Amino acid sequence: MLLIIKSHLLNDNVKVLKSEVSKTAYQGVSIAIAAIIIATGAISIFVTGEISLTGIVDAQKHNPGLWVLDSIPFVFGFWGQYSSSIIAYQAGAMIFDQTQELRNKTDDLEKQTNYVTTHDPVTDLPNRTLFYDRVERAIYTAINRNLLLSILLIEIENFKDVYDTLGRNSSDIILKQISTRLHGVCTERDSIAKLDGNVFAILLTALTDNDETERLAQYIQNALEQPFLVERLQISIHSNVGIVHFPEHGEDVDALVQRAGVALEIAQSSHKGYALYDSSLDKHSPKRLTLMSELRRAIERNELELFYQAKVRIDTQKLYGAEALLRWNHPKHGLISPDEFISMAERTRMISQVTPWVLKQAFHNVSAWRKQGIDLKVSVNLSAKDLHDPELPDHITGIAASTGIKPEWIMLEITEGSVMRDPEHALNIINRLHSKGYQFSIDDFGTGYSSLAYLKKMPLTELKIDKSFVFDILSSENDAVIVKATINLAHNLGLQVTAEGVETKEVMEKLSEYGCDIAQGYYLNKPLPVKDFDEWMRTSKY
Ligand code: C2E
Ligand code: CA
Ligand code: CA
Repeated sequence: MLLIIKSHLLNDNVKVLKSEVSKTAYQGVSIAIAAIIIATGAISIFVTGEISLTGIVDAQKHNPGLWVLDSIPFVFGFWGQYSSSIIAYQAGAMIFDQTQELRNKTDDLEKQTNYVTTHDPVTDLPNRTLFYDRVERAIYTAINRNLLLSILLIEIENFKDVYDTLGRNSSDIILKQISTRLHGVCTERDSIAKLDGNVFAILLTALTDNDETERLAQYIQNALEQPFLVERLQISIHSNVGIVHFPEHGEDVDALVQRAGVALEIAQSSHKGYALYDSSLDKHSPKRLTLMSELRRAIERNELELFYQAKVRIDTQKLYGAEALLRWNHPKHGLISPDEFISMAERTRMISQVTPWVLKQAFHNVSAWRKQGIDLKVSVNLSAKDLHDPELPDHITGIAASTGIKPEWIMLEITEGSVMRDPEHALNIINRLHSKGYQFSIDDFGTGYSSLAYLKKMPLTELKIDKSFVFDILSSENDAVIVKATINLAHNLGLQVTAEGVETKEVMEKLSEYGCDIAQGYYLNKPLPVKDFDEWMRTSKY
């Protein structure tokens, strides 16, 4: 449009120029003709004494001055035509040049607009629109040539916290670094995109088998696990990867990306941090959906219950404490294990209602036991989301005050993973609670990051060796070495050690040999409802 208006304007200008030149030429011609008429008349009067035809013809025939004068109109006419042609030619060239320049500018603008609408402004990666387009094309080619495709969705789980803490500029730097690292692990044939604020996607087209995708997911996690250096700060991010295969998991881009999202949710609660789509785990399946909405009501309907499992001192064989373990008495599905709903509650933020319930109930039980003269130290599990809740310390203080609990009667169990998701905030909350007198235990030790640097920074009282190492200490040399080394390490750091998953007398004896302080497991008791646990305390030898 702009181009058309401009070229019209130029055309009009040329016309004006041309007419200006022609006007001057016409004036010149008119003046010259007038001069000829006057000069011829004057000569006629001079020679014959009057203006007569013979006088005029005579003057024109014999006077060379008049001949020169006669030629002037032709000169003017020719000059006018010549000049206007030259100007028209120059103006034409000018129009051509300017049109070309305008055309180039418009092309650039068009390209720019196209780029902006198809790319992420921070990382320069293709955005959702371009990614979907590429996946559609890839599907078309894959159908024709019988090829495999995979899509990986990568979510930076703690990105919001990073953004809130560091601000926009530093978060943008991290996003760029993530993009660079993703390029580092991918080949040129893979297509990397940024779909949303904290979600990246990769389309893999050059696959020979689906296992390659899982290997790539591991490489991606390794690459992103290394801390990012921003403004001399080391920032750790936590990523999850969801994987889908074409044509196995969907036939169009929408279905594939939606299912990669489901796989991502499965990944969030898996230890590996990546997961392949599995229709049986699809949370959009009726059971999962209803469970989540039911958990909301489970608290009001009193369907949650705390079970207790004993912790016994190995050297004195005396009861040391108990761990509170959550159960859900579902009216239809029966007793549901926390493994089935805790991670789901974390994702849907329902955990913010579950943890306060657990704390109130546990503190209430501790208070009742103390009143009976039973001095048990009760362990309560906190989840990763709890460690990001700045109101948690005040919340706990409030519940303790209303139930008459002393902080030293309580041990709070946290996992390394939940701390490492956002170490700075988690440490802040842990320190605040520790300063009030609450003790901390590091749970599932050995399954996560096992970062000594962070262990040393945390005000811990206890280290719990994960049951997966304890089960096999008698048969697996490897596990025995790990357990022995962990006990030594913990003691060197001044921590007491609890081994969970103690299922036999022999394991208990082995642990005693290794110098382990406390045992917990089915050998002593299974997690029991309060009434049964009371009964167990009365009748057991511990
Ligand atoms: P955890 O904190 O590692 O708890 C220990 C788990 O090991 C419990 O599973 C317990 O029943 C089981 N266990 C203990 N001794 C043995 C044994 O000798 N053999 C075997 N095979 N298993 C044993 P449970 O009660 O199903 O809890 C599973 C997980 O759910 C817990 O693992 C904990 O991470 C989480 N959880 C439980 N209660 C709560 C809670 O109130 N809040 C939060 N955030 N998480 C909870
Ligand atoms: Ca625990
Ligand atoms: Ca554990």
